[in-house]
Amino acid sequence: MASIFTKIIKGEIPCYKIAEDDNFFAFLDINPNAKGHTLCVPKKEVDRLLDLDEETYLGLMAFSRKIGLAIEAAIPCERVGMTVIGLEVPHVHVHLIPLSTMANATFQSKVSLTTEEFEKVAENIRAKIQ
Ligand code: AMP
Repeated sequence: MASIFTKIIKGEIPCYKIAEDDNFFAFLDINPNAKGHTLCVPKKEVDRLLDLDEETYLGLMAFSRKIGLAIEAAIPCERVGMTVIGLEVPHVHVHLIPLSTMANATFQSKVSLTTEEFEKVAENIRAKIQ
């Protein structure tokens, strides 16, 4: 069965889209650690990061860097952190999280945003993509 992220990539489930290219897709995390928390996903559906072929792995890192720089330019924060977990959704995804405190990195404290706030955050990040 297709993963929830494949359904998002195909447009079958809505998301706050940030960017896409031929191989990768970025959208806001629906339960963010901090405002601007973004997921970068390979369109190829693979469960584990280290099972990606090298080209896709390196491409995902390059794509994530591009999106991370846009987040850093759009969202006030100390820095953008990157983490890969995958215990909830078995489709590789890079979490890009604007960090101001260590709590933002822990997945314990969450922020809730309105639809309008999600849309505005996504628009602000999109505007900073080089
Ligand atoms: P993990 O697999 O542990 O790295 O976590 C999966 C992440 O995907 C969590 O941070 C969720 O909030 C996020 N997530 C799950 N479903 C959606 C969705 N439909 N749209 C955006 N983010 C999602």
